[in-house]
Amino acid sequence: MLKGFFNIPKAVNEPVKSYLPDSPETVAVHKAYNAMWNEKIDVPLYIGSEEIRTGNTRNMTPPHDHKHIVGTYHLAEKSHVEKAIANALESRTKWANMAWEQRAAIFLKAAELIAGPYRAKINAATMIAQSKTIHQAEIDAACELIDFLRYNVEFMTQIYKDQPSSNSDVWNRVEYRPLEGFVYAITPFNFTAIAANLPASAALMGNVVVWKPSDSQVFSAKVIIDVFKEAGVPDGVINVVFGDPVMITDTILASPDFAGIHYTGSTFVFKELWKKIGENIHTYKTYPRIVGETGGKDFILVHPSSNVKQVVANTIRGAFEFQGQKCSAASRAYFPTSLWPAIKEEMGKELATIKQGSPQNFSNFVTAVIHEGSFDKLAKYIDQAKADADAEVIFGGNYDKSVGYFIEPTVILTTNPKYTTMETELFGPVLTVYIYEDKDWADVLKLVDSTSEYALTGAVFSQDRYAIEEATIALQNSAGNFYINDKPTGAVVGMQPFGGARASGTNDKAGSAQNLLRWVSPRTIKETFVTPTDYRYPFLG
Ligand code: NAD
Repeated sequence: MLKGFFNIPKAVNEPVKSYLPDSPETVAVHKAYNAMWNEKIDVPLYIGSEEIRTGNTRNMTPPHDHKHIVGTYHLAEKSHVEKAIANALESRTKWANMAWEQRAAIFLKAAELIAGPYRAKINAATMIAQSKTIHQAEIDAACELIDFLRYNVEFMTQIYKDQPSSNSDVWNRVEYRPLEGFVYAITPFNFTAIAANLPASAALMGNVVVWKPSDSQVFSAKVIIDVFKEAGVPDGVINVVFGDPVMITDTILASPDFAGIHYTGSTFVFKELWKKIGENIHTYKTYPRIVGETGGKDFILVHPSSNVKQVVANTIRGAFEFQGQKCSAASRAYFPTSLWPAIKEEMGKELATIKQGSPQNFSNFVTAVIHEGSFDKLAKYIDQAKADADAEVIFGGNYDKSVGYFIEPTVILTTNPKYTTMETELFGPVLTVYIYEDKDWADVLKLVDSTSEYALTGAVFSQDRYAIEEATIALQNSAGNFYINDKPTGAVVGMQPFGGARASGTNDKAGSAQNLLRWVSPRTIKETFVTPTDYRYPFLG
């Protein structure tokens, strides 16, 4: 029973550690990496209070050394998915009725566990599982995840505080109930923070969850599960299943108690999910919430007034950090003819300094792409660009999967602004460049807006305020996160709420109150203190 209007600790962004040589954080992360590299873990399904080992297992291998096995995980059968749903529903009443400050305490504790005792471990796991450099792991698995947890607690209290007006004789209240049923969280490989946030944000608002992580992220998902357990997430609140995504999804979407989906991943899969939910709509007890953050074809548009060094540094970071596998990564760039010779020279010079290899070696800026399917797809597009008359590989273009799935940072120059790699999401370290005539600035704005089906992130570079204003207006529907003189990646929770529209998602802005509102179903309560006893109004005479 609540006996106070409690204040929560003010949410602050977790500072990004620098990992200088021999610093305590560097020593700690190397130690964790070496231990986890050699340990060989076995990850069960987590259903209710049980850890289930089905015996049907798959190996976990780091993308930068795919013959090395760091562990196995167990695959669910249909009966396990049904059991996960049943456990979630059994846990629902108790969890939904738990006072908000208890839920807040659990997730604030999870944030502090990651900031402290689990930091090296969750970073090392992300370096091993997803081949992130230490900096990329730190800004994702540690800082962004901590920020999600802290800010979501703050946003939850803001939502709860949002109450209607009342009169002296009528008291109006709004209660932010969790959804009636369970939430299904499906998460992508590329961010450990997203993997944790999709189930956690729904659970924070009082929902029970079935979570299906990506097959390529199970190794770091295991650390999230350990943190949630230690923080005190009760059994049955977040149930975790691995395995065939179609079987798991079909089983879940057939349940009458399915109340919402929290998805991040590719656009095609999300559209299929939406279709299946529509086909099952007569099955459900409630209209399900559908929240999905999906693909991107993110742009960098450079005005002739731009500073070349700034353009090149931010294009390299935006396109090639984490091997271009951020949904926000720049993958098409528009440079003006007047600046192109200088940009090309500077880019060539800088790209020549980039080192590629295992994330264990901190001097590597680029590592491996996530799996063989991704490697083969990227190699195919690079080969096609080498062969096509309207495209030319001007930097990079080499690839090698003998040890890890290494694709060299690659720049394709095209004379065709609608060339396939200007339109299609490749999800790798491949940037396609189109050079426009300076006088065609207004036309290039229309081109940027109309070239792809996506609208996730985009950046404009210019020192001319009129040009910035023109681009901001002309590209208002081209990106949900629009950057001025900055790279299009690296959104920070509480600072730049993240999400896109068009084919990039429902734009419910992860890391904002708007997202949390999707996981509640408000109930309005009107209480009258002196209730009328006569139906007649004065006007009746
Ligand atoms: P993916 O679509 O391959 O997989 C995402 C999740 O969906 C995984 O858990 C996967 O197992 C599951 N899945 C795959 N097929 C399914 C099916 N038929 N039915 C149900 N579930 C299925 O994506 P990925 O490779 O893990 O991640 C990369 C994609 O995610 C890119 O398209 C990227 O742009 C997008 N992404 C978007 C954002 C954003 O905020 N907009 C953030 C991160 C990633």
